[in-house]
Amino acid sequence: MAAGLSVWYIAGMRSVGPCAGCGLEGPGGAAGCHSRYEALLALEFGNALFFRVHRVTVDAYSLQHPEHYCASAISFAAHLTGLFAAMEHEDPRAVNARVQRWLSSRPRLDKPALPLDRGRLTIANVKETGDPVAYAREVEDWGRATWDAYRDVHALAREWTQRATEQAGRTPIVR
Ligand SMILES: [Zn+2]
Repeated sequence: MAAGLSVWYIAGMRSVGPCAGCGLEGPGGAAGCHSRYEALLALEFGNALFFRVHRVTVDAYSLQHPEHYCASAISFAAHLTGLFAAMEHEDPRAVNARVQRWLSSRPRLDKPALPLDRGRLTIANVKETGDPVAYAREVEDWGRATWDAYRDVHALAREWTQRATEQAGRTPIVR
């Protein structure tokens, strides 16, 4: 009886395992990972200097936790193209605006198979700091690692962004 209680107690106190989304090991497993995310969002919403990389934070976290944040093909497309724009375009805001208009027309999209390895960096690599430049660099590095993990669908990100651009009636983006 005592041994059984002891095992139950330890299981309740300890992490139930790494975060199923990003693989982060740490207190609380997925819940601990999510509380880090909430802390970074609070930092970004509280200070415009930190908010500059907000979209990268949201897209990287969502793509590392696609079971929750990319359940539909539309939401997956929004986050994938968002990270594509941040990593490979001069003017990500303009790209995101075009993609948002395109996705609001509810195009039929097929969600591809997602990578099991979501990147060598996780949200734990982004420190809560008072330095917005250092913060932005860490968010960008995390975003880059996530984007690399999705290399098998880079072409799809380009295709979707191109479709959004064509719908907007602008000159296709050529890189
Ligand atoms: Zn996680």
